Amino acid sequence: MEYQKILEDIYEEIQPFAGMGNQADYIPALAKVNPDQYGIALKTVNGESYSHMQADTRFSIQSISKVFALAMGLSLKGEDLWKIVGKEPSGTAFNSLVQLEVEKGKPRNPFINAGAIVIADMLISELDDPDAAFLNFIRELSGDESIDYNMEVAESEREKGYLNAAIVNMLKYHGTIKNDIEDVLMFYFRMCSVEMSCADLAQAFLAFTNCAPFDYAGFRLTSSQIKRLNAVMQTCGFYDEAGEFSYLVGLPGKSGVGGGIVAVYPMRYSVAVWSPRLNPKGNSIMGMKSLELLTSYTQESIF
Ligand code: GLU
Repeated sequence: MEYQKILEDIYEEIQPFAGMGNQADYIPALAKVNPDQYGIALKTVNGESYSHMQADTRFSIQSISKVFALAMGLSLKGEDLWKIVGKEPSGTAFNSLVQLEVEKGKPRNPFINAGAIVIADMLISELDDPDAAFLNFIRELSGDESIDYNMEVAESEREKGYLNAAIVNMLKYHGTIKNDIEDVLMFYFRMCSVEMSCADLAQAFLAFTNCAPFDYAGFRLTSSQIKRLNAVMQTCGFYDEAGEFSYLVGLPGKSGVGGGIVAVYPMRYSVAVWSPRLNPKGNSIMGMKSLELLTSYTQESIF
Protein backbone atom coordinates (compact mmCIF):
# COMPACT_ATOMS: atom_id res chain seq x y z
CA MET A 1 0.00 0.00 0.00
CA GLU A 2 1.36 3.42 -0.95
CA TYR A 3 0.59 5.08 2.35
CA GLN A 4 2.94 8.05 1.87
CA LYS A 5 1.28 9.11 -1.37
CA ILE A 6 -2.15 8.51 0.09
CA LEU A 7 -1.40 10.78 3.08
CA GLU A 8 -0.17 13.51 0.75
CA ASP A 9 -3.20 13.18 -1.55
CA ILE A 10 -5.53 13.32 1.44
CA TYR A 11 -4.00 16.61 2.58
CA GLU A 12 -4.64 18.14 -0.86
CA GLU A 13 -8.17 16.86 -0.96
CA ILE A 14 -9.20 18.22 2.43
CA GLN A 15 -8.12 21.80 1.63
CA PRO A 16 -11.72 22.96 1.04
CA PHE A 17 -12.32 22.23 4.74
CA ALA A 18 -9.42 24.42 5.94
CA GLY A 19 -10.75 27.36 7.92
CA MET A 20 -13.99 25.61 8.92
CA GLY A 21 -14.73 25.35 12.65
CA ASN A 22 -12.77 26.75 15.58
CA GLN A 23 -10.30 25.48 18.12
CA ALA A 24 -11.58 24.65 21.62
CA ASP A 25 -11.70 27.99 23.38
CA TYR A 26 -13.48 26.99 26.58
CA ILE A 27 -9.99 26.10 27.83
CA PRO A 28 -8.25 29.50 27.71
CA ALA A 29 -4.77 28.06 27.06
CA LEU A 30 -6.08 26.16 24.01
CA ALA A 31 -7.70 29.29 22.58
CA LYS A 32 -4.15 30.58 21.97
CA VAL A 33 -3.22 27.66 19.68
CA ASN A 34 -2.81 28.54 16.00
CA PRO A 35 -5.87 26.80 14.51
CA ASP A 36 -4.40 26.42 11.04
CA GLN A 37 -2.09 23.51 11.69
CA TYR A 38 -2.24 19.94 10.44
CA GLY A 39 -0.25 16.77 10.86
CA ILE A 40 -0.74 13.07 10.19
CA ALA A 41 1.36 9.99 11.00
CA LEU A 42 0.78 6.31 10.27
CA LYS A 43 2.87 3.47 11.68
CA THR A 44 2.52 -0.15 10.69
CA VAL A 45 3.11 -3.16 12.89
CA ASN A 46 6.01 -4.06 10.56
CA GLY A 47 7.88 -0.93 11.58
CA GLU A 48 7.07 1.25 8.58
CA SER A 49 6.45 4.89 9.31
CA TYR A 50 4.70 7.49 7.16
CA SER A 51 3.85 11.10 7.90
CA HIS A 52 2.92 14.41 6.35
CA MET A 53 3.03 18.05 7.41
CA GLN A 54 3.39 18.78 11.15
CA ALA A 55 3.49 15.20 12.34
CA ASP A 56 6.15 16.02 14.96
CA THR A 57 4.47 19.07 16.49
CA ARG A 58 3.17 18.35 19.97
CA PHE A 59 -0.36 19.36 20.96
CA SER A 60 -2.73 18.85 23.87
CA ILE A 61 -4.03 15.29 23.65
CA GLN A 62 -7.01 16.07 25.92
CA SER A 63 -9.51 13.18 25.81
CA ILE A 64 -7.15 10.85 23.96
CA SER A 65 -5.59 10.50 27.43
CA LYS A 66 -8.75 8.63 28.45
CA VAL A 67 -7.61 5.61 26.44
CA PHE A 68 -4.35 5.44 28.41
CA ALA A 69 -6.27 5.79 31.69
CA LEU A 70 -8.67 3.01 30.65
CA ALA A 71 -5.77 0.73 29.74
CA MET A 72 -4.22 1.30 33.18
CA GLY A 73 -7.59 0.79 34.85
CA LEU A 74 -8.24 -2.48 33.01
CA SER A 75 -4.78 -3.69 33.85
CA LEU A 76 -5.26 -2.93 37.56
CA LYS A 77 -8.89 -3.98 37.98
CA GLY A 78 -9.79 -6.33 35.15
CA GLU A 79 -13.54 -6.86 34.73
CA ASP A 80 -14.19 -5.26 38.13
CA LEU A 81 -13.57 -1.92 36.47
CA TRP A 82 -17.05 -2.12 34.95
CA LYS A 83 -18.58 -1.93 38.41
CA ILE A 84 -17.69 1.75 38.62
CA VAL A 85 -18.10 2.78 34.99
CA GLY A 86 -20.31 1.49 32.15
CA LYS A 87 -19.46 0.66 28.54
CA GLU A 88 -22.45 1.95 26.62
CA PRO A 89 -22.32 4.87 24.18
CA SER A 90 -23.73 7.97 25.83
CA GLY A 91 -25.24 9.78 22.84
CA THR A 92 -24.65 12.98 24.80
CA ALA A 93 -21.86 15.56 24.87
CA PHE A 94 -18.56 14.67 26.53
CA ASN A 95 -19.24 16.96 29.48
CA SER A 96 -22.94 16.25 29.91
CA LEU A 97 -24.43 15.91 33.38
CA VAL A 98 -27.84 14.66 32.32
CA GLN A 99 -27.32 10.88 32.42
CA LEU A 100 -25.16 11.08 35.49
CA GLU A 101 -28.04 12.40 37.53
CA VAL A 102 -30.58 9.93 36.17
CA GLU A 103 -28.19 6.98 36.47
CA LYS A 104 -27.18 7.89 40.02
CA GLY A 105 -23.51 8.59 39.57
CA LYS A 106 -22.40 5.64 37.39
CA PRO A 107 -20.95 7.16 34.19
CA ARG A 108 -22.03 5.59 30.90
CA ASN A 109 -18.49 4.90 29.66
CA PRO A 110 -14.81 5.68 30.35
CA PHE A 111 -14.53 8.17 27.46
CA ILE A 112 -16.98 10.80 28.62
CA ASN A 113 -15.57 13.17 31.23
CA ALA A 114 -17.50 11.62 34.11
CA GLY A 115 -16.15 8.16 33.28
CA ALA A 116 -12.57 9.35 33.00
CA ILE A 117 -12.91 11.24 36.29
CA VAL A 118 -14.03 8.02 38.01
CA ILE A 119 -11.00 6.21 36.56
CA ALA A 120 -8.74 9.08 37.68
CA ASP A 121 -10.08 8.62 41.21
CA MET A 122 -9.44 4.87 41.07
CA LEU A 123 -5.85 5.42 39.84
CA ILE A 124 -5.23 7.83 42.73
CA SER A 125 -6.44 5.13 45.15
CA GLU A 126 -4.40 2.33 43.57
CA LEU A 127 -1.09 3.97 42.74
CA ASP A 128 1.57 5.48 45.02
CA ASP A 129 2.41 8.23 42.56
CA PRO A 130 -0.35 8.41 39.92
CA ASP A 131 1.18 11.44 38.15
CA ALA A 132 4.49 9.66 37.61
CA ALA A 133 2.84 6.32 36.75
CA PHE A 134 0.59 7.89 34.11
CA LEU A 135 3.48 9.68 32.46
CA ASN A 136 5.78 6.64 32.61
CA PHE A 137 3.12 4.50 30.97
CA ILE A 138 2.73 6.93 28.06
CA ARG A 139 6.50 7.43 27.76
CA GLU A 140 7.04 3.69 27.51
CA LEU A 141 4.22 3.22 25.03
CA SER A 142 5.60 5.92 22.74
CA GLY A 143 9.28 5.30 23.46
CA ASP A 144 9.88 8.97 24.25
CA GLU A 145 10.99 10.18 27.67
CA SER A 146 10.38 13.83 26.86
CA ILE A 147 6.57 13.55 26.79
CA ASP A 148 5.16 15.64 29.64
CA TYR A 149 2.20 17.40 31.21
CA ASN A 150 1.56 21.02 30.26
CA MET A 151 0.77 22.59 33.62
CA GLU A 152 -0.33 25.88 32.07
CA VAL A 153 -3.07 24.04 30.17
CA ALA A 154 -4.08 22.04 33.25
CA GLU A 155 -4.29 25.16 35.45
CA SER A 156 -6.14 27.09 32.79
CA GLU A 157 -8.70 24.31 32.49
CA ARG A 158 -9.17 24.27 36.26
CA GLU A 159 -9.84 28.00 36.20
CA LYS A 160 -12.78 27.62 33.82
CA GLY A 161 -13.69 23.99 34.48
CA TYR A 162 -17.17 24.67 35.83
CA LEU A 163 -18.88 21.67 34.23
CA ASN A 164 -16.17 19.22 35.25
CA ALA A 165 -16.38 20.61 38.78
CA ALA A 166 -20.14 19.96 38.71
CA ILE A 167 -19.49 16.41 37.47
CA VAL A 168 -16.97 15.63 40.21
CA ASN A 169 -19.33 17.01 42.84
CA MET A 170 -22.20 14.86 41.61
CA LEU A 171 -19.94 11.78 41.56
CA LYS A 172 -18.83 12.52 45.11
CA TYR A 173 -22.44 12.98 46.22
CA HIS A 174 -23.29 9.51 44.86
CA GLY A 175 -20.25 7.96 46.54
CA THR A 176 -18.71 6.94 43.22
CA ILE A 177 -15.38 8.59 43.98
CA LYS A 178 -13.32 8.11 47.11
CA ASN A 179 -10.67 10.84 47.08
CA ASP A 180 -10.73 14.59 47.63
CA ILE A 181 -12.61 16.18 44.71
CA GLU A 182 -9.96 18.82 44.07
CA ASP A 183 -7.21 16.16 43.88
CA VAL A 184 -9.27 14.08 41.46
CA LEU A 185 -10.13 17.04 39.27
CA MET A 186 -6.53 18.26 39.06
CA PHE A 187 -5.23 14.78 38.21
CA TYR A 188 -7.88 14.51 35.48
CA PHE A 189 -6.86 17.93 34.07
CA ARG A 190 -3.18 16.96 34.15
CA MET A 191 -3.93 13.75 32.23
CA CYS A 192 -5.76 15.81 29.58
CA SER A 193 -2.88 18.31 29.39
CA VAL A 194 -0.27 15.79 28.18
CA GLU A 195 1.32 16.94 24.94
CA MET A 196 2.16 14.51 22.14
CA SER A 197 2.67 14.69 18.40
CA CYS A 198 0.92 12.59 15.76
CA ALA A 199 4.13 10.54 15.50
CA ASP A 200 4.15 9.98 19.29
CA LEU A 201 0.49 8.97 19.31
CA ALA A 202 0.78 6.64 16.32
CA GLN A 203 3.71 4.94 18.04
CA ALA A 204 1.88 4.66 21.38
CA PHE A 205 -1.27 3.24 19.80
CA LEU A 206 0.63 0.54 17.93
CA ALA A 207 0.37 -1.29 21.25
CA PHE A 208 -3.41 -1.38 20.79
CA THR A 209 -3.18 -3.08 17.38
CA ASN A 210 -3.00 -6.25 19.42
CA CYS A 211 -0.20 -7.97 17.56
CA ALA A 212 2.30 -8.30 20.43
CA PRO A 213 2.13 -8.90 24.19
CA PHE A 214 1.12 -5.72 26.03
CA ASP A 215 3.44 -4.95 28.96
CA TYR A 216 4.41 -1.31 29.52
CA ALA A 217 5.73 0.25 32.74
CA GLY A 218 4.27 -2.63 34.72
CA PHE A 219 0.81 -2.44 33.13
CA ARG A 220 -0.17 -5.62 31.33
CA LEU A 221 -3.21 -6.33 29.17
CA THR A 222 -4.27 -9.62 27.65
CA SER A 223 -5.13 -9.74 23.98
CA SER A 224 -8.77 -10.18 24.97
CA GLN A 225 -8.62 -6.98 27.06
CA ILE A 226 -7.13 -5.09 24.11
CA LYS A 227 -9.94 -6.36 21.91
CA ARG A 228 -12.44 -5.02 24.44
CA LEU A 229 -10.64 -1.69 24.76
CA ASN A 230 -10.89 -1.31 20.98
CA ALA A 231 -14.58 -2.18 21.18
CA VAL A 232 -15.15 0.65 23.64
CA MET A 233 -13.22 3.05 21.37
CA GLN A 234 -15.40 1.95 18.46
CA THR A 235 -18.69 2.54 20.29
CA CYS A 236 -17.79 5.46 22.59
CA GLY A 237 -14.66 7.18 21.25
CA PHE A 238 -16.29 10.22 19.65
CA TYR A 239 -18.78 11.54 22.17
CA ASP A 240 -22.18 11.91 20.55
CA GLU A 241 -20.59 11.43 17.13
CA ALA A 242 -19.38 7.85 17.70
CA GLY A 243 -21.89 6.48 15.20
CA GLU A 244 -20.86 9.01 12.56
CA PHE A 245 -17.14 8.23 12.95
CA SER A 246 -17.83 4.51 12.84
CA TYR A 247 -19.96 5.00 9.72
CA LEU A 248 -17.48 7.21 7.89
CA VAL A 249 -14.18 5.65 8.98
CA GLY A 250 -14.86 2.13 10.21
CA LEU A 251 -11.99 1.91 12.70
CA PRO A 252 -11.87 2.13 16.51
CA GLY A 253 -10.49 5.50 17.55
CA LYS A 254 -10.49 8.35 20.03
CA SER A 255 -10.58 12.10 19.64
CA GLY A 256 -9.72 15.01 21.90
CA VAL A 257 -10.71 18.68 21.90
CA GLY A 258 -7.07 19.58 21.21
CA GLY A 259 -7.91 18.51 17.64
CA GLY A 260 -6.19 15.12 17.71
CA ILE A 261 -7.69 11.82 16.58
CA VAL A 262 -6.07 8.39 16.80
CA ALA A 263 -7.42 5.27 15.11
CA VAL A 264 -6.32 1.66 15.15
CA TYR A 265 -6.49 -0.92 12.39
CA PRO A 266 -6.05 -4.09 14.47
CA MET A 267 -3.03 -6.22 13.51
CA ARG A 268 -2.02 -3.66 10.83
CA TYR A 269 -1.41 -0.03 11.78
CA SER A 270 -2.23 2.93 13.95
CA VAL A 271 -2.77 6.43 12.60
CA ALA A 272 -2.92 9.82 14.29
CA VAL A 273 -4.07 13.08 12.77
CA TRP A 274 -4.26 16.57 14.23
CA SER A 275 -5.88 19.80 13.25
CA PRO A 276 -7.27 22.13 15.93
CA ARG A 277 -10.45 23.34 14.23
CA LEU A 278 -13.39 21.36 15.63
CA ASN A 279 -16.94 20.69 14.57
CA PRO A 280 -19.79 21.47 17.01
CA LYS A 281 -19.44 17.99 18.59
CA GLY A 282 -15.81 18.67 19.53
CA ASN A 283 -14.11 16.54 16.85
CA SER A 284 -11.45 17.80 14.43
CA ILE A 285 -13.03 18.56 11.05
CA MET A 286 -9.92 17.95 8.93
CA GLY A 287 -8.99 15.01 11.15
CA MET A 288 -12.26 13.19 10.62
CA LYS A 289 -12.23 13.90 6.91
CA SER A 290 -8.64 12.63 6.62
CA LEU A 291 -9.46 9.30 8.23
CA GLU A 292 -12.61 8.91 6.18
CA LEU A 293 -10.50 9.34 3.03
CA LEU A 294 -7.76 7.03 4.34
CA THR A 295 -10.07 4.07 4.80
CA SER A 296 -11.89 4.87 1.56
CA TYR A 297 -8.69 4.99 -0.52
CA THR A 298 -7.08 1.97 1.12
CA GLN A 299 -10.34 0.05 1.52
CA GLU A 300 -8.91 -0.98 4.86
CA SER A 301 -11.36 -0.97 7.73
CA ILE A 302 -12.60 -3.50 10.23
CA PHE A 303 -15.87 -3.86 8.30
N1 GLU B 1 -10.17 18.31 29.26
C1 GLU B 1 -11.31 18.33 28.41
C2 GLU B 1 -12.56 18.49 29.25
O1 GLU B 1 -12.64 17.92 30.27
C3 GLU B 1 -11.36 17.06 27.62
C4 GLU B 1 -12.48 17.05 26.66
C5 GLU B 1 -12.19 16.31 25.41
O2 GLU B 1 -11.09 16.30 24.86
O3 GLU B 1 -13.15 15.73 24.94
O4 GLU B 1 -13.46 19.18 28.95
